[in-house]
Amino acid sequence: MNPFDLSNRVAIVTGGNGGIGLGMARGLANAGAAVVVAGRNKEKNTAAVADLESLGAKAAAVEVNVTDPASCRAMIAAAVGRFGRLDILINNAGTNIRKQPTEYSLAEWHEVLETNLTSAFVCAQAAHPEMRRAGGGKIINIGSMMSIFGASFAVPYAASKGGIVQMTKGLATAWAKDNIQVNAVLPGWIDTDLTRKAREQVKGLHERVLERTPAGRWGITADFAGIAVFLSSPASDFITGTAIPVDGGYSVQG
Ligand code: NDP
Repeated sequence: MNPFDLSNRVAIVTGGNGGIGLGMARGLANAGAAVVVAGRNKEKNTAAVADLESLGAKAAAVEVNVTDPASCRAMIAAAVGRFGRLDILINNAGTNIRKQPTEYSLAEWHEVLETNLTSAFVCAQAAHPEMRRAGGGKIINIGSMMSIFGASFAVPYAASKGGIVQMTKGLATAWAKDNIQVNAVLPGWIDTDLTRKAREQVKGLHERVLERTPAGRWGITADFAGIAVFLSSPASDFITGTAIPVDGGYSVQG
């Protein structure tokens, strides 16, 4: 048996229509899974499905706003309606608003917390009965280096990503009995739309990342294919509640 084989598995990747989410979705598709990409932007959704189908995979898109719990539940139902089961959920959709702490409105705080943290809880809750029905499952939550470190310009984001790690541990302990493994992935600095904006907004960021990252480069979305397959496959059946950095060594550099 190939422990990384995902044939006959069905996955949902929130924010799977671009960036890190699409990098993960491609990994799952190449390993044989049927993949549902879920995002707000219709054009990006359609392009991502075409991309995954070009790899020979079964793929579908669901339009979702993860800040709306009803929309999250409908996404799970739509994926099961389309492919008949749900085995893998990757909670990847995320956003950031960069400001000094005194400058945030409460609405901005809620926007970041709801997009990054509450949505992951709601989607996991909605996925749980489907995974039990399938005999088990895999949930992967996307954290950040700011799950570990502070950032003066991203306090709500760091709070949400710190919460992702603790939520992951709680769900992992609660659902181990259901054969559902729950893990977090903590990306370092990766070249995506999200960080392109950060590079524009935070002076000197590009150079600081290169200097601080032992691998000497920014991550690319393809760097996430392997970890997605590993944490979605039988290869990781005895691994749960962890938070694994995919960061070129950023978090171990003194
Ligand atoms: P992108 O901006 O490229 O992707 C973000 C994705 O989230 C998009 O696909 C977007 O889809 C989706 N999304 C955002 N808000 C919502 C919403 N309300 N409802 C549904 N979908 C939504 O960023 P990245 O690929 O960089 O980020 C992916 C994850 O990785 C995030 O959780 C981010 O915090 C995390 N991360 C990224 C790092 C990096 O260096 N890039 C570092 C650490 C963590 P749409 O446009 O269709 O809404």
